[in-house]
Parts: sequence; structure tokens; C-alpha cells
Amino acid sequence: MKAQPKASHFIDGTYVEDMEGAPFDSVYPATGEVIAKLRAATPTIVEMAVAAAKRAQPEWAAISPTARGRILKRAAEIMRARNRELSELETLDTGKPIQETIVADPTSGADSLEFFGGIAPAALNGSHIPLGGDFAYTKRAPLGVCVGIGAWNYPQQIACWKAAPALAAGNAMVFKPSEMTPLGALKIAEILIEAGLPKGLFNVIQGDRATGPLLVNHPDVAKVSLTGSVPTGRKVAAAAAGSLKHVTMELGGKSPLIVFDDADLDSAVSGAMLGNFYSTGQVCSNGTRVFVQKGIKDEFLSRLKARTEKIVIGDPMDEATQLGPMVSKAQRAKVLEYIAKGQAEGARLVTGGAIPNSVPAEGTYIQPTVFADVTDRMTIAREEIFGPVMCVLDFKGEDEVIARANSTEFGLSAGVFTADIARAHRVVDRLEAGTLWINTYNLCPVEIPFGGSKQSGFGRENSVAALEHYTELKTVYVAMGTCEAPY
Ligand code: NAD
Repeated sequence: MKAQPKASHFIDGTYVEDMEGAPFDSVYPATGEVIAKLRAATPTIVEMAVAAAKRAQPEWAAISPTARGRILKRAAEIMRARNRELSELETLDTGKPIQETIVADPTSGADSLEFFGGIAPAALNGSHIPLGGDFAYTKRAPLGVCVGIGAWNYPQQIACWKAAPALAAGNAMVFKPSEMTPLGALKIAEILIEAGLPKGLFNVIQGDRATGPLLVNHPDVAKVSLTGSVPTGRKVAAAAAGSLKHVTMELGGKSPLIVFDDADLDSAVSGAMLGNFYSTGQVCSNGTRVFVQKGIKDEFLSRLKARTEKIVIGDPMDEATQLGPMVSKAQRAKVLEYIAKGQAEGARLVTGGAIPNSVPAEGTYIQPTVFADVTDRMTIAREEIFGPVMCVLDFKGEDEVIARANSTEFGLSAGVFTADIARAHRVVDRLEAGTLWINTYNLCPVEIPFGGSKQSGFGRENSVAALEHYTELKTVYVAMGTCEAPY
């Protein structure tokens, strides 16, 4: 088997199997080939992982942030040195083309380890508060055992985006990747050990929606960070509330991308394509509602159609391939249903909409798809499709488009293309989203906070802000005299 790990789980520095766990296959989406056979975690495995994390965490928290950071930076170097191998594994895990994984997956994971390793010594400081003779100080304390739960679109990146700030701040982590993409996180666990991370601090256990709650409800877990859909977010947040755990929710979206008639048109088309077709459309922050100002609509659509039809679909391991398959048959079936619904509700199919020819029959490919004349009420304009389906809507004026862009329960991201700098800032100021772009789309370097508002979640990943979500403030009042009491 192409990508069979030594065992399903990685706990306390070593691979572990429990033959009682429910078996499941890891499938390469490009061919349907089974590339690994794994087992979901049993309650025994969950207990082992949480216990290992709990045991290892206090000693890790007691060493200096500089020493912790050194290990994370070493792990980043190892990831970079093995970029090709890790990218191939990510391609097998997800079906995403190597052209993408080689620049966007292990590399962004390594960026995260390097960034948090680097800032740990400076960004975890507390403050001194003068109170006359007395004073107080604050310190940033780690939370303890943190749980990370991942989605299937960026398995290695998600594992690192959660592990790096958690570990930098002195926590331990138990990470559960998506059952669709179980392999990448195991390699990251191996690399962290190789870099010198003490065992027990980063554990990976497998499983699905039945396993997640065992972690979320565990009394020794202090925090849960989920990347997933809004319905899952609601369940996880509700379960975490039962024991008042800290939560970070990185959930879905239906983000607006607004193109004004003064925008550089080719640049706007590039932004719309990046924000709909990268990773075969399986990106949470995608700008799937593309609002184009009326005067430029026809020209925008004609350039978009021409460029979309040139996208190279094929073998993800071929460096020339630009669009790979979707992650699974079920996900593709869901997307095809949305495409049918779009047509039934009266949207105009500009290009795509079908399964491409000349790809393996068992591969879960789908054409990049553009709908025009989409209206706000259509299902494809309201629900997250999570596939390569772009909806183009037209608008007349600024106030109108802002109101329509905000008319959604989601609030993950938004983008504006315009040459008018004042308008760009005015519009993003009024858009209800956590991450916004002007004249580009979907760029998420580790230095900037990433996360959503409204139903798209709360908490932030990346940047110094992420450390706040993996620590809590302790305040210490120091009396310099005797303690006075009125008794
Ligand atoms: P999903 O919600 O089905 O699953 C996400 C993870 O949660 C999986 O690991 C799954 O096993 C686990 N899970 C499911 N039910 C659970 C429960 N009750 N308790 C605990 N864990 C549970 O999402 P998906 O289909 O894997 O990923 C696609 C979704 O993720 C999309 O909605 C996408 O927008 C979102 N996403 C968000 C971000 C972000 O940063 N905001 C990034 C990537 C993906």
C-alpha cells in the first residue's frame, strides 16, 4: 500500500494500534486506489493520548520559550528539507495537484512552526501594573491539554496552524485529522519528535464524528480548536460548553468578492479564479459570490470563461496539472447536486458543470464551473458548496452591493477589487467578515490573523493573536505592606 503508516495513531512519541478500532480506508481521490488501511481510535486510545499529553505538558511549560521555540524552528527546517516527500503525501491524502502542495501545504506548516518558534520568547510576556506602593503583574499561562480537530482540505497546514501556537505557548496537543485525510498529521508528529519535541506533547489519533466527541467531552481537555463546517461547529461548541472549555472555531463561509468597474479586469479575474478553483474549490475562505458591477459584466465573463476553459485538469502528480479531483465521491456528488439545483433555479451555466472526459473513471474529478445571472435567493448563492463552483452576480452601486454581500449568516472572508483607494477601504470597513483582501484574494501568510465572524466562527489562527487563544491571563496582586482588615 502506497502510503501505509506504521500504525493508525501516534501517541507518546510512538506509533500505536488498537485492533478493536473500526477499520477504514484512506483513498487516493485521483484513482480511487486504497493507499492505507487504518483504524479509528477506541476510548482506550483516546485515554492514552490525553493521558500522555497531560503527563508531558507541565515539564514543557516549565522550560523557557526560547528553548521551546528552538525545537519548533528545527521542525520547520526538517519540513522544508522534506518538502517534496511531504507534498507528495499531501497530494495522495487530498488529491490536490503537486503544483499546489509543493508551494502551499508543508511550506505553510513550516512557516507556522518557524513563526511561533520565533515569537515565543517575546510574545508571551505579561505586564507590570503599578498601584502606588503595591503592584500587580500578569502572566500568560498555557491552558494545558488542547485538542485540535481538522478538516480535509489542508491537513498538514491545519495540523501545524494548531500545533505551532499551542506548543509555543507551553501546551500539549491531541490532534484528530479528518477521517478523509488521515496521513499528513502522522508525519508531522514524527518530525516534531525528530526535532527534539519531548514525547507526549503532540499526539495524533484517527477517527470521525464518533471519535471527536470523546475528545471534546474529555474532562482533562482545556481547549478545543476545530476547523470544519458550521453544523459541526455548533455541535462542538455546544459540547465544549458543557464543561466550559476554551474554543476556537474555524468554520465555513460563502464569502463575497466585489469587482467594481474601475478594477484592473485581468487582476480581478485572477482573484476570482484563485478564490474559487484553487484546491478544486475546497477552501473555506473562497469568494464564491462574485459581485461584478454591471458595466463590466460581459467583458469579465468572457475573460473568465476563456481562462477557466484553459485550466489543466489531470493527474495530480504531474507538475503541469492545475486542477485535481475533489476529496471524495460523496463531496463530488454534493457539488453536482448544487450544480443541478443552480440550473433548475435559473442560473446561467457559463462553463463547466460536468465530470471531465479523459480522467480515470474512479477519480473524483469535476470541471471548474461558472454560473452567471445568479440572484441572491438562489440556493447556490446562499449555501456553502465547497467545490469549484463560482457564482457571478451583478450589481449597480456601492451601498447596494455591501448590503447584499452582508446578507448571509456567514462572515469568514471578503474581497474588493477597485482602483479607487478610498472606496476600497470604505467598503472593506463595512463588510462583515474576519479576513478581507483588497485587489487580491485568499492570501494567508502566517503573520496575519485568520478567522471568521458571524456563523463562520470565532478565535483567530496565525499571527501573535493566536497565542491569546492558547493561553490565559493570570493576574498577581502583590502587597508591599501588611494586610489590613476591618475586623
Ligand atoms: P466537517 O465539519 O464535516 O468535519 C470537520 C472535522 O470535525 C472532522 O475531523 C470530523 O471528523 C470532525 N467532527 C465531525 N463531527 C464532530 C463532532 N460532533 N464532534 C467532534 N468532531 C467532529 O468538515 P469537513 O467536511 O471535514 O471540512 C469542510 C468544512 O470545513 C467546510 O465547511 C469548510 O468551510 C470548513 N473549513 C474551514 C476552515 C477555516 O479555517 N475557517 C478551513 C478549512 C475548512
